Amino acid sequence: MATKEQKMDMDSRALLSQKGTNAYAVTINNRYGIRYDIYVCPNDKESGAKKIAIHRALGIVHGRGVALPPQIDFYCSANYEMQNRAYHRNLNHEQASVISLGTTATKGGSGTGLSSMPIVGFDSATLITLHELGHNLHERSVGDRFWTDSWTGKVATFAEISPYAATNKKEFVAEFFCGAMSGATYSDACKNHYRELGGATGTHFP
Ligand SMILES: [Zn+2]
Repeated sequence: MATKEQKMDMDSRALLSQKGTNAYAVTINNRYGIRYDIYVCPNDKESGAKKIAIHRALGIVHGRGVALPPQIDFYCSANYEMQNRAYHRNLNHEQASVISLGTTATKGGSGTGLSSMPIVGFDSATLITLHELGHNLHERSVGDRFWTDSWTGKVATFAEISPYAATNKKEFVAEFFCGAMSGATYSDACKNHYRELGGATGTHFP
């Protein structure tokens, strides 16, 4: 069982291993009360769609009254190593919000999550960005529990959301966040599971 420090190390080093040696072009955005930087790898032909998805997802979360991190860095790349993933720590183990969008971001991620299901009005890149934001906000909401608790096991109400929500409790939280942000309504039991696990809440959410 990895210690908290080991888990933070794995988290902060994962992005480094996926970025490769490419020179990323960055655009700095100030909207929704935060700063967010979008780093684009020149090999990424889908970066336009990913940028639109990022702006839209942040607008949706902001509109539901959920406080966003003060700064988020997004990485868009077609490197084969690049995952769709949220990172929560920098190399000094300080809190940071970083999200990477890889080659599958516009094609539906894992294939069993909400991002690969037809949801009217939502493309998979927006759904994946919402899912990853759900992870980031979960970490900020539960604090140390994110690193010290066991998150294995299925949550009883996962089937209301998606097969992927059964993966573990962190994925349940991120899938609930993505689903509810994109307009799904879930039972009180399901909402309570989300709250008990410490998922992010806001003035109009969940
Ligand atoms: Zn996830």
